[in-house]
Amino acid sequence: MDNALLEQLRSVVGEDELLTESVDLLSYSYDNSRISILPDAVVLPTEHRQVVEITRLCRERKIPITTRGRGSGTSGGAVPSRHGIVLSTERMRKILRMEPGDRLMVVQPGVTNREVQEEAARYGFFWAPDPGSSAFCSVGGNISCGSAGPRAVKYGTVRENILGLRAVTGAGEEIRTGTETTKWAVGYDLTQLLTGSEGTLAIITEATLKLLPIQQQSRMMRALYRDMRSAAEAVAAIMAQPATPSALEFMDGKSLELIRPQLGGKFPPEAQALLMVEVDGSPHTVEESIAAIRLSAANDGLISFYVAANSAETEELWQARKILSPRLREIAPKKINEDIVVPVSKIPQLIETINTISAQYRITIANFGHAGNGNLHTNLLINPDDPAELKRAESCLDILFQRVLELGGSISGEHGIGLVKQKFVSNEIGDRERKLMVEIKYLFDPDVILNPGKGPQL
Ligand SMILES: Cc1cc2nc3c(=O)[nH]c(=O)nc-3n(C[C@H](O)[C@H](O)[C@H](O)COP(=O)(O)OP(=O)(O)OC[C@H]3O[C@@H](n4cnc5c(N)ncnc54)[C@H](O)[C@@H]3O)c2cc1C
Repeated sequence: MDNALLEQLRSVVGEDELLTESVDLLSYSYDNSRISILPDAVVLPTEHRQVVEITRLCRERKIPITTRGRGSGTSGGAVPSRHGIVLSTERMRKILRMEPGDRLMVVQPGVTNREVQEEAARYGFFWAPDPGSSAFCSVGGNISCGSAGPRAVKYGTVRENILGLRAVTGAGEEIRTGTETTKWAVGYDLTQLLTGSEGTLAIITEATLKLLPIQQQSRMMRALYRDMRSAAEAVAAIMAQPATPSALEFMDGKSLELIRPQLGGKFPPEAQALLMVEVDGSPHTVEESIAAIRLSAANDGLISFYVAANSAETEELWQARKILSPRLREIAPKKINEDIVVPVSKIPQLIETINTISAQYRITIANFGHAGNGNLHTNLLINPDDPAELKRAESCLDILFQRVLELGGSISGEHGIGLVKQKFVSNEIGDRERKLMVEIKYLFDPDVILNPGKGPQL
């Protein structure tokens, strides 16, 4: 990268907000996918105006810009795969406006999800997207990946909880999308177009978030099953009745086996699947919902159904879920973690496929995830440094993704395409639709400087 451009960038953001030392470049070269590619420089703008200027300068010289929130993404979206600059939003940290009467909050993109939740809670509200990475991921990253967490089953993902955006296109132009109202009917929905676009169309510099009131009470339940099929059937039964849970998470037998030593006698050996169900509402509706869930969760495979009596017991029930991810990393640090999603009623068929390929290709697979949305985190516990094992795992993935699409699902429920899913996109999105997407990309980013090589390709 030429010195003249570095000087110009420095004059836009300031001396301390332009990084070029190799140790800094390394720190911004990777995300949670663990792919690492060095940028040529890192810029740390603090306001919208600077993002406009940076983008214009880079466009003049066709320098790639990879926008980065906190780099917690798991698919390589924030990895600067074509070098150029990383534009980190970590210093765009202002909560600009809170409007309780309009149930909205306006924030800069670098505010973390947790900071949004803390501020909203002061007024009795919450923002529905609640990824496990809430403490450190940014709102800009959440919007750009279409992120979600356990609450999505009742309250939706980012897509259902975003009102509008301010952003800078690859042409260096400011755009504003959406409104501050929950109803509008004028023009195309550019807010939804930017949501999930993984930094390939525009750089989000402000977001208007739709807030929801915190419910009076919530209660947690745990159901243990003899087999995953019974648990999956219970999920479909729970979702077929009107008392919608505010979380409906599951773990399969392999996941339970991994955490059993840490949780002692809590899970009897015959338990081969677990559901964690939360309901919320007024004290009266919570009691009614518990009764309704208890009824629909019951089937021949149910071993036990337990309702937490207080917050300490609730915390204890979540414990199993919290210790699983670190445990998986401990035993297979380079595991492949997939993020597939199918209609809830199709979970049993998907589990059958996973069991079959696991046995056929001799790959241990542990599944857990957001069952209420049909979103499975399928973990292939392999060592990718073993070429034979890696080849078998790749064959597993081909069959798995094909089956997911046959069942009407998607190869990513919340992590996005990034770099790691690039080669599978054409399996899910047809030629005509990808051509439209590429044309849209050129309208937003004529010189293809924003996250080049990512997003749908022809
Ligand atoms: C322990 C752990 C748990 C997780 N749990 C969940 C979970 O429960 N649910 C879930 O959905 N995800 C989860 N994730 C994945 C990840 O945290 C989310 O995808 C998160 O939204 C990424 O935010 P980030 O700020 O780290 O974004 P980054 O990783 O920095 O970026 C992600 C993508 O967004 C783009 N981007 C970032 N900011 C902007 C912006 N301002 N404008 C335009 N593009 C931008 C980047 O270019 C990149 O393509 C988890 C990750 C970890 C490590």
